[in-house]
Amino acid sequence: MQNKYALVTGGGRGIGRAICVKLAEMGYGVLVNYKGNTQAAEQTAALVREKNVAAELMCFNVADREAVKQVLGGWMENNKEKKIEVLVNNAGIRNDALLPMMNDEQWDSVIDTSLQGMYNVTKLVITPMALNRYGRIINMVSLSGLKGMPGQVNYSAAKGGMIGATKALAQEVARRNITVNAIAPGFIKTDMTADLDEKELINMIPAKRFGNAEEVADLAGFLVSRNAGYITGQVISINGGLYS
Ligand code: NAP
Repeated sequence: MQNKYALVTGGGRGIGRAICVKLAEMGYGVLVNYKGNTQAAEQTAALVREKNVAAELMCFNVADREAVKQVLGGWMENNKEKKIEVLVNNAGIRNDALLPMMNDEQWDSVIDTSLQGMYNVTKLVITPMALNRYGRIINMVSLSGLKGMPGQVNYSAAKGGMIGATKALAQEVARRNITVNAIAPGFIKTDMTADLDEKELINMIPAKRFGNAEEVADLAGFLVSRNAGYITGQVISINGGLYS
């Protein structure tokens, strides 16, 4: 029976989906969290099952603490023999505006999804992981959280907060064989970037292209692997040389 699981928040589409498939290739059963697009999440689950491992859909809003406790906490309670060995806090949204034009909902929803969502989910998973004395946590941040991007004060704050949390938690749990790292992508081709002017933006990317979700998933796969056991508390950029 499958008993080693990876939980990927926002696993239904984009980068999260590619990470689900990568972790399935590595032999993990995958818990595919998503917020509302069941069809997309079912497609991810089907791709995972093609790798001959288990996939379970887990619909909850990571920003809704009670929902996380009910759905994820309920699964953990009912599946005590199954261990969540890998957590990828990937769910995130952007809702850009210059600060004077930003409304409270734009600020709250972006912070609540990335930063609060990371707290809500990690809080449930971390103790069993520590008791198991093994784990891998990856927080999906952004170049925006490292250098700040105009029009994204909310998003830069959310991702910057996650970077601080990554470094602090890494130090708390290192002795338990748990690594905590962040991945900071630049521009990756997904639904999230579909509204951007790619032709214009690639001019400023040294690699002259957007990245793809599978490239981010390959990096996540390495950080999850046993070989990456001495890498913790780091932010790894994947941005085609864009960082400046
Ligand atoms: P995406 O294509 O828009 O997919 C987002 C996924 O997150 C979807 O599966 C969505 O669920 C889920 N989600 C959104 N809000 C959620 C919530 N409150 N609770 C649970 N699930 C939620 O995004 P992406 O481009 O793959 O981005 C993934 C992560 O990478 C995000 O954290 C993003 O900030 C980060 N990132 C992306 C880029 C980029 O260029 N794409 C660059 C830097 C960082 P539904 O399908 O149900 O809607």
